[in-house]
Amino acid sequence: MLNTLRDITQAVAAANTLTAALSLLVVQTKHAMATQCCSIYLLEHQQLVLSATEGLHQSAVGHVRMPLTEGLVGLAAEREEAVNLADARIHPRFKLFPEVEEEEYRAFLAVPIIYQKMVVGVIVVQQPNPRQFSEGEEAFLMTLAAQLAVVIRSLKNKAAITNVQDQVVFNGTTASSGIAIAKGLVLGGVISLEQADLACESIEHETTRVKLAISRSKDMLSAISQRFERDKAEDVASIFSAFKLLLDDSSLGGEYIREVAAGWRAESAVSRVSIRYIDQFLAMDDPYLKERASDIRELGQKVLRQLIEPDRLEFEPETPVILVAKEVDATMLAEFPRHKLAGIVTKLGGVNAHAAILARALGVPALVGVEQVLETNIDNKLLVLNANRGQLLVSPSPAVVAEYQALIRVDAEKQKRFSAELSLPAKTLDGKRIHLYLNAGLLSGIESDIADGADGIGLYRTEIPFMLHQRFPSEAEQIKVYQRVLNAAGDRPVVMRTLDVGGDKPLPYFPIKEDNPFLGWRGIRLSLDHPELFLMQLRAMLQAGGKGKQLQILLPMVSNLDEIDQTIEYLDQAYDELNIELNSMLTRPKIGVMLEVPALLYQLDDVAKRVDFVSVGSNDLTQYLLAVDRNNPNVSSLFDSYHPSILRALKRALDECLLHDLDVSVCGELAGEPYGALLLVAMGYTKLSMNQASLARINYLLRRVSHSQLNQVLTICLSVSNAAQVKQVLFEFTQQHQLEDILH
Ligand code: PEP
Ligand code: MG
Repeated sequence: MLNTLRDITQAVAAANTLTAALSLLVVQTKHAMATQCCSIYLLEHQQLVLSATEGLHQSAVGHVRMPLTEGLVGLAAEREEAVNLADARIHPRFKLFPEVEEEEYRAFLAVPIIYQKMVVGVIVVQQPNPRQFSEGEEAFLMTLAAQLAVVIRSLKNKAAITNVQDQVVFNGTTASSGIAIAKGLVLGGVISLEQADLACESIEHETTRVKLAISRSKDMLSAISQRFERDKAEDVASIFSAFKLLLDDSSLGGEYIREVAAGWRAESAVSRVSIRYIDQFLAMDDPYLKERASDIRELGQKVLRQLIEPDRLEFEPETPVILVAKEVDATMLAEFPRHKLAGIVTKLGGVNAHAAILARALGVPALVGVEQVLETNIDNKLLVLNANRGQLLVSPSPAVVAEYQALIRVDAEKQKRFSAELSLPAKTLDGKRIHLYLNAGLLSGIESDIADGADGIGLYRTEIPFMLHQRFPSEAEQIKVYQRVLNAAGDRPVVMRTLDVGGDKPLPYFPIKEDNPFLGWRGIRLSLDHPELFLMQLRAMLQAGGKGKQLQILLPMVSNLDEIDQTIEYLDQAYDELNIELNSMLTRPKIGVMLEVPALLYQLDDVAKRVDFVSVGSNDLTQYLLAVDRNNPNVSSLFDSYHPSILRALKRALDECLLHDLDVSVCGELAGEPYGALLLVAMGYTKLSMNQASLARINYLLRRVSHSQLNQVLTICLSVSNAAQVKQVLFEFTQQHQLEDILH
């Protein structure tokens, strides 16, 4: 049973078009379930359309359609559950469509295909003899429908991608708003087998390159084969081992090398050999041998990928580009030259992942969850990224480009309006002063980070400079970086957070493999397990801080008071050692903890006895309170910092801190969002830390609201039952006060 399910799912997933996939699906399901008829209906504009059948009349495909309120197929979709009937004809919802010629069928089983709560279609099996389908048969069809939902959804999307006037439009989720117009740079997409014929300058050098690419491709194939072997799928494993053999010297691998010896560049050689063999195989009569052409293509692309993109990104494009990739991580973005990055588009990734936060901090528009984006060749094509509306347009017409250029100008003017007030203090209409700080550390050029209007740096994420190294930075290297940050802030305070790697922030030279990285070895946990590294970082911070008063040290991911106590011991040790070594008296910095693990919320009285301040990390607090991985697109709709429980937690955090005389601020993304900032100020927070892109907007907004009005809004927000209602209340407030223009 399991094998049959796997075979059908794999065959359907491998199909290139929706029509091919559905045809395969009905044929194979009918066969597997030994029924006389299998059909699939897809939901289009609230109607179920017969989209493929094996058993009903073919001419009805695409023509028979019914609303959800009609027929038994509609019933399965409407109720979102299986309908299993011994004799469909006697059911009151039975509806006869003469054109499908289903008169002879009586036994009827329909199962809805549902993707993320949404009905995508219905799969139906039928038989002439009246009988109830067995529990096992029903379970089989339900399993199949659940497995196929994602494939069908994605093929449906692909089919829907091309629309208006040959204009290709992809849809995705906004991770960072804004509009960009630039050419696409696709990483990890389909590599074209057709490479230019270029003669090589050094045969020896090109031979080394092609040999290395072949051996890396072989290693990858071995790893895949071993993985299938471990999963006891020996048949699949053998396909990959056979593939690997084709790269041997006696086979294609040798051909590539010989082509280089004939004077071609490695890429050209692989391309030439592949195309030559593909043509030869395609010309053969034997269908089995004909199909081998696709193996040659796949191998050629694998080796070319190793030649063209061996490691993620080692080159700098000439002009700014929109980076398109399966996924980007914080390191990749931190490494990419900012002035060459116009936008980011990824197939995977969540809007609260660190890469998304980084994109927002960089002020770069970004879309995530853009399905099919890698299956279409958009490399080097002109793109318009409209992250405000979650859209990516490919090869737009000059008129469309002009329209977006105008929108970019309007956005820039609005930003200018906000920036013009940045030097004025963030004070509400009724005189409440709010201090706005900067979240920094994400940009490599730190100097440009320090906006004049900020009251200081509220969060300096030290992990980013660590990510940019090939090994742990030395003490001297760290001192230099931290000194630069302190200098750039002038005499304003700087909150430096100790290393918060783990989760979705890996260090390239310190890989951590865990099943649940966000619940694992992260932040202070890792630092305390490596005192040698932790002490080095503390020493570097203390020396950079010197005798000044600017530096404050912040600890990430604290879940236990012991972690604070141990840190203070290490800090004492580093401080005493340095005072002796330098024969001087350094300033002992204030120390604080991130409030991001909910447990700490209930121990703030004890926390207050140990540290000077608390910084609320609303990103992780949301993730851990709601049990939603901030990086997982399957549950991203559940990640919402406006959830009333989060708001209550934030209010409680503030009240507790005030009660215990603890200085408190918020440095999560919420603080930089217009609604978030309004709520936090309403609660009584007076210190918000945010990325530079948000600073001017939030300052401008807060200068136009009054604290007492906000207080009333807060009371309502704390009493409603979900995040959508909270946002509705805030929307109405901004509308009433003509503030909507500031929101986006
Ligand atoms: C947070 O969790 O809110 C926070 C600011 O830290 P980070 O996003 O770096 O995990
Ligand atoms: Mg955090």
